[in-house]
Amino acid sequence: MNVKERVMAARLVAVERWPYFGPQLLSMVLVPKSIGTCATDTRGRFYYDPEFVKAVSVQELATIWLHECLHVWLDHAERRCGRPPSIWNKSVDREINDDLKKECMPFPEAFPPLLPHQIGQPDGELAEYYFGHEEQEDEEGEGEGDGEGEGEPEDGGSSMDGIPRDWEDGPESESGVSEIPESMQECIKQQVSENVVEHIKDGGHVPSGIALAAEANLSPPKVPWQKEMAAAIRACAADVAGAVDFTYRRPSRRQSVYGDVIMPAVRRPVPETVIVLDTSGSMYGPDLQSALDETQGVLKTLGGRGIRVLATDSQVHSRQRVTHASKIEVLGGGGTDMRVGLAEAQKLKPSPDLCIVLTDGYTPWPDRAPKGMQVIVAITGGHAKRAPDWARTVSIEG
Ligand SMILES: [Zn+2]
Repeated sequence: MNVKERVMAARLVAVERWPYFGPQLLSMVLVPKSIGTCATDTRGRFYYDPEFVKAVSVQELATIWLHECLHVWLDHAERRCGRPPSIWNKSVDREINDDLKKECMPFPEAFPPLLPHQIGQPDGELAEYYFGHEEQEDEEGEGEGDGEGEGEPEDGGSSMDGIPRDWEDGPESESGVSEIPESMQECIKQQVSENVVEHIKDGGHVPSGIALAAEANLSPPKVPWQKEMAAAIRACAADVAGAVDFTYRRPSRRQSVYGDVIMPAVRRPVPETVIVLDTSGSMYGPDLQSALDETQGVLKTLGGRGIRVLATDSQVHSRQRVTHASKIEVLGGGGTDMRVGLAEAQKLKPSPDLCIVLTDGYTPWPDRAPKGMQVIVAITGGHAKRAPDWARTVSIEG
């Protein structure tokens, strides 16, 4: 068996293991490249180093096939959202490898897989979650640590983080190397998702990470979260206004004396708003920016001015009154406890009518609603189920 046959044999072993994943595996364009390992890019190519292929068993290579193609199918490049790639790339590997490990798939001995338990975290979470728990790297220390990379190769290509590697072939029009057009890649993703759901219906086994991703891919598009957020803020504003109106409208003995006095119109109050911002590390990039922009926008239409922001992880790091999202200092990066931020919000003067918690949802919540203020929990990454019952919930998805 020559090298290419070996690569193709391993691909068939992978298809046999996960038949539903066949379209993804079989669509990949094979490109030999001396990169020390295997990798996939964002153009539907599977690169393999012939020396590496010879050094591992076909069964191990099948595991690598699944691993590399999962980077593509799980959209790791798109999902990075500006996170530092060196840390993100570890998190995406953990998201993949826990599923492969659970299936008892062999990894090459020289390249042990990154797994959630190595950073003290449970299996079955998303890369965005693991990212919040990775050890933060000392940026200055880089360069000196060149020697330690042995045994841990530069795993993967641009499919992990969207950053083209020097050794990757460019667009087909320039490099002449076949690529799978984006529209076709989207079809493949959908096809695999449908296969997964079928497979489960037929009583087949699918690793939980794959099943969840397939369901998410197939779920119908939701109401844009911006609309939900605006509606939630308006509803809170109306509640606040209602409470104020009520005190004005209460008939008083005095009023009867004056007869048909027209009460002065009550100016609709803008809810005094505070944002509790989760800075634990998993809130990042466009999600955070658009959530803040949207909040500011809606409050502006109601006539609001600056909003106070409490940057919170396991403690409150800063209290700022900001008029622009870009002015928010994002600090923190430890554990996460939004209870601390909510408690702090209640102590503010003037006391807030509305508290918007922007979080990825990986936090404990108070058992009951905080007294005296409405709470909107805006959750990124589709974890709406983790929000408490007593809050209005908005699921923020890009
Ligand atoms: Zn990887």
